[in-house]
Amino acid sequence: MFKVPPVPAQRLPELLRQMPKAELHIHIEGSLEPELIFALAQRNGVALPYADVESLRRAYAFTNLQSFLDIYYAGASVLLHEQDFYDMAWAYFERAAADNVVHAELFFDPQTHTERGVTMATVVHGLHRACVDAGQKLGVNASLILCFLRHLSEESAFETLEQALPFRDKFISVGLDSSELGHPPEKFARVFARCKELGLHLVAHAGEEGPPAYIWSALDVLKVERIDHGVQAVHDAALMQRLAQDRIALTVCPLSNQKLCVFPDLADHNLGKLLEAGLAATVNSDDPAYFGGYINDNFTQVFAATGLTARHAYQLAFNSFEASFAGNADKRAWEHKLKETFERCVEHDY
Ligand SMILES: [Zn+2]
Repeated sequence: MFKVPPVPAQRLPELLRQMPKAELHIHIEGSLEPELIFALAQRNGVALPYADVESLRRAYAFTNLQSFLDIYYAGASVLLHEQDFYDMAWAYFERAAADNVVHAELFFDPQTHTERGVTMATVVHGLHRACVDAGQKLGVNASLILCFLRHLSEESAFETLEQALPFRDKFISVGLDSSELGHPPEKFARVFARCKELGLHLVAHAGEEGPPAYIWSALDVLKVERIDHGVQAVHDAALMQRLAQDRIALTVCPLSNQKLCVFPDLADHNLGKLLEAGLAATVNSDDPAYFGGYINDNFTQVFAATGLTARHAYQLAFNSFEASFAGNADKRAWEHKLKETFERCVEHDY
């Protein structure tokens, strides 16, 4: 492992912004900024229950996951055509490139759209075209993760999978998101078993608001390769050991945790504890338009609040590459670039 040189505290925020990183937990529908929601509403003739951009922004005062999800689904209602999905993803990629994201794995929620009569082809083609362009025009390597909404039925998840199979070459993994409490991973055991047979990667949200038991069943019943969030693992010593031993990555989202009151005070966030316990934690933005920041905001704010250091920064970026579903050659190239950024930082020259 690279020996991280000492970095003066005042240079840390710039290092966090400059270092190359992968984003592994970003719901593309959660990157819809109020301005784009209004622009798309106008383009598509959709009436919104908010008078203007400012009143929509004011409605972003969530208190928990459910109150957030209610607004999130209202925002997604403006997405109707392939170009809308492209424009949404492209806006995210431009911000990701500015934050030195070199690789992104985007979650998308087809059921949010197919339930409104938008076809799977419209959703997947728009997002996939943006992924291709992100690689070619912005240097952001990108792929898609199809998520099942866990508050809907197993039957609906199976139907969604069926609809997505003609586009099997355009997504690399499936995930599980939306309201966690009351919807344990085992509800989707058979769908995930089928996806595993199809050769898809598997991830799931677990242990955000839900108990450590949900993380156990995501691992043992769903057989996931990464846990999205997972911050509740600290309440279960045996689970912490398992996650560390098997190098199961956690895609942690500090500003989301703060905004949804999982850690109302960012200073209490357990990111440092997870890293010190040897877990492969990463930092991500979750739903950046709604939670007050993109990936670099997540890094700089959680570091400022909790006093993490350059050593942690290196580990987090390194973990993000290792935990990604990218190929080994790409991982080595990004890790090399990461090392160079740290060396340049010590020489006071980015
Ligand atoms: Zn999420």
